[in-house]
Amino acid sequence: MRHIAIIGSGPAGYYTAEAAQKVFGDDVRVDVFDRLPVPYGLIRSGVAPDHQSIKAVSRRYEKVALSDNVRFVGNVAIGEDVTIAELQALYDAVVLATGAPHDRPLGIPGDDLGNVFGSAAFVGWYNGHPQFARLDPDLSGKTAVVIGMGNVALDVARILAKTPAELAGSDIVAHALDALAASRIERIVLLGRRGPHQIMMTPKELGELGELARAAPHVAPVDLPIPEEDAILEPGLRKSVSHLRAFAATPEHIRAEKPVAVEFAFMSAPKALLGSSKVEAIEVEKTRLVHGQAERTGEVERVPADIVVSCIGFRSSPIPGVPFDERAGRFANDEGRILPGLYCVGWARRGPTGTIGTNRPDGYTTAEHIADDVEAGILGRATKQGGDGFDALAAQRRLDVVTFQDWKKIEEAEERAAREGAPREKFVDIEAMIRARR
Ligand SMILES: Cc1cc2nc3c(=O)[nH]c(=O)nc-3n(C[C@H](O)[C@H](O)[C@H](O)COP(=O)(O)OP(=O)(O)OC[C@H]3O[C@@H](n4cnc5c(N)ncnc54)[C@H](O)[C@@H]3O)c2cc1C
Repeated sequence: MRHIAIIGSGPAGYYTAEAAQKVFGDDVRVDVFDRLPVPYGLIRSGVAPDHQSIKAVSRRYEKVALSDNVRFVGNVAIGEDVTIAELQALYDAVVLATGAPHDRPLGIPGDDLGNVFGSAAFVGWYNGHPQFARLDPDLSGKTAVVIGMGNVALDVARILAKTPAELAGSDIVAHALDALAASRIERIVLLGRRGPHQIMMTPKELGELGELARAAPHVAPVDLPIPEEDAILEPGLRKSVSHLRAFAATPEHIRAEKPVAVEFAFMSAPKALLGSSKVEAIEVEKTRLVHGQAERTGEVERVPADIVVSCIGFRSSPIPGVPFDERAGRFANDEGRILPGLYCVGWARRGPTGTIGTNRPDGYTTAEHIADDVEAGILGRATKQGGDGFDALAAQRRLDVVTFQDWKKIEEAEERAAREGAPREKFVDIEAMIRARR
């Protein structure tokens, strides 16, 4: 019997568990750890609350979690409650599937002003991540600036733009729904350093911006390259650019029917955030494209900004004793191998790229690496204690482990608490989650 510890219960963690079942059959026991008492990582706390069909992928992970040889071990932070070395002594293989939970810093003057947030914090706030539930962003100003031109920036802009009625069937948490209902924001500026051909927004998500009840996208026709240049784009990006063209072609009187404007500001690099204690404006330097890269032009303009959310990428958290690539912001690895018996998958391996499905081949590759390393004798003989050894350690340390059955009770309580039409009302603090399982 081989014992595998997977740290992180997001997509990468569960795809790896699923792959380990396929590769090892009945000869494996898998423990999936998470620092939170609830599973599924960014499926719960990142993916937008109004995209329930995407969140439904968790049913596939539930199937894995409910099988006999896989356990969920929630409410245990690896690197804090238990060290990596302790896990390595108990399991044949330890797989880091810890994601990339920290925002890449903006690194410009004024980025520490009030009402300036990274997307991990802001998205975590409206999705009820316990770490960010008390963020309390001030939405009483007129202008929001969202930095970045990827899907996370789109999510943030769309959530800021939607009406309470449009969010009613989502699982946005009550504190965020109330705050957004009282929001006075009427201008949302999406700021990108490069042009329309360099956006990282997928067509379906971008198209949604054109269908909002009270908000309309604004693209200046002069910002768009000539249509013939779209021919060289890969099909997905070409489709996204065709949405931008449709937004730009919308007559002003139609756009004006909607009171909230979502403006695309291309070729604009953030230079400084201005304000006394809270942000009041953003200084932006215009850029030009040189071989696809943004080069600053020295031309500076000021955009009012009552709230700023920066969506410019994420970094993993280092764990004591594990080699870390500081520049790339992820664990130092060779195709998922860190050290003998220590592996990484998903965002912890690749950085924050790709879709949920991209984590699946990652998980399968890692399970195959583990099988190859068993075969090559690198992981030694099958003598590790696995989950039984961990349970003894957890009892000795008095860790309050949350099981998958406990999670199901938490989930039922969240479903019972849902407002009408919504799938659930999430618990937003750890104590409440733990109480709910009893
Ligand atoms: C805002 C946002 C929206 C997104 N929307 C979409 C979308 O619509 N469609 C799409 O395809 N993709 C989307 N993605 C991307 C998708 O969420 C990621 O590809 C995926 O979640 C990465 O999986 P992961 O398992 O590597 O990391 P995560 O999902 O982040 O999971 C990591 C898990 O590890 C746990 N953990 C971390 N450190 C420790 C520790 N020390 N001890 C124990 N546990 C730990 C965390 O609590 C977490 O549960 C979105 C991402 C973001 C940020």
